[in-house]
Amino acid sequence: MSFAAIYKNSIEQPQAFWDGEAKLIDWQQPYSHVLDYSKPPFTQWFVGGKTNLCHNAVDRWVATQGEKAALIAISTETGSEKVYSFTELQAEVSRTAAIMLALGVGKGDRVLIYMPMIAEAAFAMLACARIGAIHSVVFGGFAAHSLASRIEDAQPKLVVSADAGSRGGKAIPYKPLLDEAIALSAHKPGKVLLVNRNLAPMNLVDGRDVDYATLRAQHIDAQVPITWLESNEPSYILYTSGTTGKPKGVQRDVGGYAVALASSMQHIFCGNPGETYFATSDIGWVVGHSYIVYGPLIAGMATIMYEGLPTSPDAGIWWSIVEKYKVTRMFSAPTAVRVLRKQPPEFMQKYDLTSLKALYLAGEPLDETTSGWISDALKVPIIDNYWQTETGWPILSIAKGYEDMPTRLGSPGIPTPGFNVKLFDETTGEECGSNEKGVVMIEGPLPPGCMQTVYGDDARYVSTYWTVLNGKHLYSTFDWGIRDADGYYFILGRTDDVINVAGHRLGTREIEESISSHANVSEVAVVGVEDKLKGQVAVAFVILKNPDTANGVQARQALEKEIMGVVDHQLGAVARPSRVYFIAQLPKTRSGKLLRRSIQAICEGRDPGDMSSIEDPASLNQIKGALVS
Ligand code: AMP
Repeated sequence: MSFAAIYKNSIEQPQAFWDGEAKLIDWQQPYSHVLDYSKPPFTQWFVGGKTNLCHNAVDRWVATQGEKAALIAISTETGSEKVYSFTELQAEVSRTAAIMLALGVGKGDRVLIYMPMIAEAAFAMLACARIGAIHSVVFGGFAAHSLASRIEDAQPKLVVSADAGSRGGKAIPYKPLLDEAIALSAHKPGKVLLVNRNLAPMNLVDGRDVDYATLRAQHIDAQVPITWLESNEPSYILYTSGTTGKPKGVQRDVGGYAVALASSMQHIFCGNPGETYFATSDIGWVVGHSYIVYGPLIAGMATIMYEGLPTSPDAGIWWSIVEKYKVTRMFSAPTAVRVLRKQPPEFMQKYDLTSLKALYLAGEPLDETTSGWISDALKVPIIDNYWQTETGWPILSIAKGYEDMPTRLGSPGIPTPGFNVKLFDETTGEECGSNEKGVVMIEGPLPPGCMQTVYGDDARYVSTYWTVLNGKHLYSTFDWGIRDADGYYFILGRTDDVINVAGHRLGTREIEESISSHANVSEVAVVGVEDKLKGQVAVAFVILKNPDTANGVQARQALEKEIMGVVDHQLGAVARPSRVYFIAQLPKTRSGKLLRRSIQAICEGRDPGDMSSIEDPASLNQIKGALVS
């Protein structure tokens, strides 16, 4: 069957289509119906069916390929490398699950995981899945305030963490940030389970903090049975930035997610049991959930967890891993490729990369130069794919597992099965035709694997994402897009105040709130500005309460550093603006709304557009002046 026919079937007959795909995973109890869309936009997939993510990722493979590699944990930071077979992974996950049970964690309880890229992080995620606890992984690069807001929202019974991560050979202590976050949060987790890597000293809190190695030894022979879950019970929460300062907890189910991953692993990523998959992301992001931990394992593949920089000990490190473990499918982000492009080609050429069949890139727009360079260097298909934390798997790509369709430079491809993608004109509300720019929307029901709701806030889910037009429920991606005459989509940037730095999604409002907490800051605007390496960087414009403190270059520089330090401390270095400029006035409309897009345009050397609503046109000159000062 052609891809076009398969796609059509998935949209017109979603029940029949997904009933077929559901056979890719194990069900302990069959579902009574494939889809319940009786309360749109809420979608229930595989209603009444019982399954488990950990069973499908681990136990299921123990019988047929127990001795084969499952998890390959490599750290160039600590010089460690360990391969866990499926049997060994099952044993480790069982031990961690037993520890969690002993600490009082049960089905439906939340467990917050704040960990570096070490094997124990994957054990913790899979252990939660095994016992039906709901994990919420928080990216290790986030600092105390970001962490505190997530602790407060998820209300975890247990936090799993470590003494430190490591970056560029430098230990980055996690424990002090965690302690500060718990102090800031109104909710206090009962227990904190700590992996001690001996990278940084830890102060243990009596009665709360427990040592992972000690408890692991106590549960060394544990065999924790699988807790079977109804398909629509929650599996995890993953927080993502939006337009308000408060991150949203994207909640995912069990059965639909497992089916979506199994299906995408087969048809988009074309992975086979026994092969090795290497995604260079981090478990703190959605790619880490879907395509470092769950997806490859559900497909019976070995998955690589890598802690370290792409350029250390040298720029050949990723390619040496590809050679050593015969990686067949690799997943990365355009920024990482741009970093590697700056290095001499010998680093890639000296390794045997013949095992590699394709490189998948996602998270941010893939420019032609980057795509062309890596394609020439690797001589394998480069497959862009477009998706979001909310969808959990690609909305747009070239699903070569169905048909070997051509890719098109600059386009992440065409809608994947199940995603009824449409473009709408923001002002007229009309559907766009070919080559007309519109907002990328998806008509409900969303396919399996997508978010079920915002954790604890159904109303926020509906009001944030959904619009009803002519009786149809439409999910907004908040991205601009355009579709060519052949149906290929091109993504043109966000419609909201979310920016994308090196493939990481950040809310400008969160950064503004953090900067505002500096005692000398009166007003602030943060915008995303085009950057050759990272795609975008955050740039801040600040009005000071006491402008005299920024007189002179040295004073300005010191203040800029101080404000960057506030963001580092509260949100993490990932959110740090690349520049902080001091000005006397921000461009606003007469009703007081910040003209962010005009500020952004000026920063990028573009025309700021229609300025009829601006209160004081001179404020634009302030921005221009600051940039050249
Ligand atoms: P996140 O939820 O952090 O994965 O960020 C999702 C956002 O990243 C999307 O809404 C897009 O703005 C952007 N994005 C993801 N993948 C791509 C891609 N392949 N091309 C262009 N933009 C992308």
